[in-house]
Amino acid sequence: MKNIKFTNHNRSKIVTELEQTEYDLVVIGGGITGAGILLDASSRGMKVALVEKEDFASGTSSRSSKLIHGGLRYLKQFELSLVKEVGKERAIVHRLAPHLVIPEKMLLPLIKNGSYSEWMTSIGLKVYDILADVEEEDKRKMKNKEETLALEPLLPEDILKGSGYYAEYRTDDARLTLENIKTAIGYGGTPLNYTQVEEFIYNEGQVAGVKVIDKISGEAYSINSRFIINATGPWVDELREVNHSKEGKQLHLTKGVHLVFPREKLPLKQSVYFDIPDGRMMFAIPRGKVTYAGTTDTNYTLDKNEVRTTIEDADYLLNAINNMFPTVNLVRKDIISSWAGLRPLIHEEGKSPSELSRKDEIFISDSGLISMAGGKLTGYRKMAEKVVNKLQKKLERTTHIEYKEVFTHKIPLVGGPWKKYKQVKKYVKKLTQDLEQYGFEPYTAWYLTTTYGRQSEQIIAVFKTKSGDDKNENLILAELDFCIQNEMVVTPMDFFFRRTGMLYFDIESVTKYLEKILTVFGVSFNYSAEQINVFRETIEKEVIKHSSF
Ligand SMILES: Cc1cc2nc3c(=O)[nH]c(=O)nc-3n(C[C@H](O)[C@H](O)[C@H](O)COP(=O)(O)OP(=O)(O)OC[C@H]3O[C@@H](n4cnc5c(N)ncnc54)[C@H](O)[C@@H]3O)c2cc1C
Repeated sequence: MKNIKFTNHNRSKIVTELEQTEYDLVVIGGGITGAGILLDASSRGMKVALVEKEDFASGTSSRSSKLIHGGLRYLKQFELSLVKEVGKERAIVHRLAPHLVIPEKMLLPLIKNGSYSEWMTSIGLKVYDILADVEEEDKRKMKNKEETLALEPLLPEDILKGSGYYAEYRTDDARLTLENIKTAIGYGGTPLNYTQVEEFIYNEGQVAGVKVIDKISGEAYSINSRFIINATGPWVDELREVNHSKEGKQLHLTKGVHLVFPREKLPLKQSVYFDIPDGRMMFAIPRGKVTYAGTTDTNYTLDKNEVRTTIEDADYLLNAINNMFPTVNLVRKDIISSWAGLRPLIHEEGKSPSELSRKDEIFISDSGLISMAGGKLTGYRKMAEKVVNKLQKKLERTTHIEYKEVFTHKIPLVGGPWKKYKQVKKYVKKLTQDLEQYGFEPYTAWYLTTTYGRQSEQIIAVFKTKSGDDKNENLILAELDFCIQNEMVVTPMDFFFRRTGMLYFDIESVTKYLEKILTVFGVSFNYSAEQINVFRETIEKEVIKHSSF
């Protein structure tokens, strides 16, 4: 859909294209796995559509720890090839979108009677550097107690022995998903959200398309395709069941929760990966105005569409944080937001949630449905490459067309391109100067750049046309305008949850600007007063569910 702008105003045009085209591939699921496959297959020259039943990244891909990491914990489980693969991938993804995948130094404190001894950490991180091919300046450094406390004064002085200091990357998972999708459109890919696959179409026993329902218009229609990839994360087995092929290996879902605190309540100077008394480890990561911390890892068998943080989850994490940072004394009412997601792992008999492998796997059913499960946000590009390589062989046998070899490692994501990370830093500096005249703090330039990259200029151009007295409101409205015009926003939840991350990282603004945002939605999409009321109630309920414990 190269010539159709990616806005809900064009929904019916996109539906017509989906109905009328004979695709090479339909990807089901608009999380990071599906988004990566859409970009990979479209860029090789295949005709590809992607359908997502809710909003893009509304499943696990907006609820991760938001780290593009080399998987230090897999070293503990001796999954060396996984450490090597994800380590290499994170360097590639950083290069493709350095505004969105940003270096983040991590501190691993060494504690008396902790799970890592000094020599184990030193050797472990060294092996990690080698396997993950870490660049010289990012190689691990061992710090003594005084150096560690200088980096993070909130650590417990009495039991602290020192630390390992190593390199990770942090991202915004939902935006990474969306920018992959937008980049794929440039190669002819056709993605659409709020489009649920209900059934498969078969031709001589082989899948030949999908029957979908448009959740906005209520209309049902069919999409024809030579091949179908089921990239529905936690829902993979549900579609295998629809395809009558749920046999052999199956999914094992585990829930992971993160809590968000105001920066002043958990004033970390530095990201920390630390011991929990039960032997697990967790992250605490400062980000803009907040610090977030997680995660849990518990078996999950309830409703996949309603994954929530329970009081027990919150208390478990609060205890773990208070244990490592004894002066902060966090309590439930300090939690300003939270999120909970499901890891779509592959079941292994007798293993606990934390022991299950994070490796990805591909299942191909007798009727040709290709399902991809497991894996990590970090490894999405490589996962896509693996499955599209398999598909390409099959497709070339059918079409006798020769498609290109993979080259996603050379495709900068929308929001770039940048030659080096240094350029991103310069861009933030320039934006900070530009925005100073309007009274914005440097945070705003940082937020815009790490959310939209170079697209920030389009937002600022609209901001400059706004004449309201509240500069923050003017900026949010300019962001909304950009997201409506370019990012297939359909509901206010899409904007608050996944385009801006405001529900997690700036929840006060959600409540403060809700009415203004609802008004724009009403005008822009002609939503009825009744629909707007439903949106209002949904957001108000979500704010409470995410923040009240
Ligand atoms: C708590 C937690 C922390 C994590 N932290 C990290 C981390 O820091 N770094 C990292 O690399 N990885 C991390 N992961 C793993 C990573 O987030 C996941 O591997 C990844 O997001 C899975 O993406 P996915 O696209 O496979 O699934 P999803 O993102 O869930 O996407 C699947 C999509 O399919 C859609 N769908 C389902 N059924 C249908 C249907 N019938 N029709 C159309 N669409 C459908 C769903 O709505 C959903 O959007 C974490 C995971 C969790 C849970």
